[in-house]
Amino acid sequence: MAKYTEAKCRMCRREGCKLFLKGDRCFTDKCAFDRRPYAPGQHGRARKKVSEYAVQLREKQKVRRTYGVLERQFRGYFAKADMAKGVTGTNLLVTLECRLDNVVYRLGFANSRNQARQLVRHGVFSLNDHKVNIPSLQVNVGDVISVPEKNRKIPVLAEAQEVIARRGCPGWLEADGAAFKGTVKAMPQRDDIQFPINEQLIVELYSK
Ligand code: SF4
Repeated sequence: MAKYTEAKCRMCRREGCKLFLKGDRCFTDKCAFDRRPYAPGQHGRARKKVSEYAVQLREKQKVRRTYGVLERQFRGYFAKADMAKGVTGTNLLVTLECRLDNVVYRLGFANSRNQARQLVRHGVFSLNDHKVNIPSLQVNVGDVISVPEKNRKIPVLAEAQEVIARRGCPGWLEADGAAFKGTVKAMPQRDDIQFPINEQLIVELYSK
């Protein structure tokens, strides 16, 4: 399966904002973006004229890199969001938010989406009591994500309760760290996605 191999902190620096791709490290003074808040490379600090296209492209890359989705898959998500009823940009973000790896991260079972994806791929979770290993699976209202007994000793999962208490859980999900499970209470709304993004720019980019 194709995956990104580019250094994660470099992506934050390229996008000009923190994408929180490295879990706890992102909240420490080791964060590369906090230390060097400019684009990577020799001309990273140079002042550049930014075109409308560049603004739209950066906004798309920001979302794509945050959720760890490759370009082709992202285009697929956009095409579906465009065909669905409602606002295309919101549909796109809701679809990304409902990916199983993102839900695992949001529930506090992983420190980053990347780690969540790896855990899902290794078949650590069950969805409605069935073992799953597809990070891109879409969750629906009423779905229950749980950790079978034999996997509960994995360190990051054993700490889930603590992580949930520290990080909190979005309103559309219900996390029960003690029982190693989480429930999808509702579909996420745009306001639930606390991410400084202007999704309209992505719609404009793909509508050219
Ligand atoms: Fe981005 Fe900082 Fe986290 Fe690195 S440590 S991924 S620069 S937020």
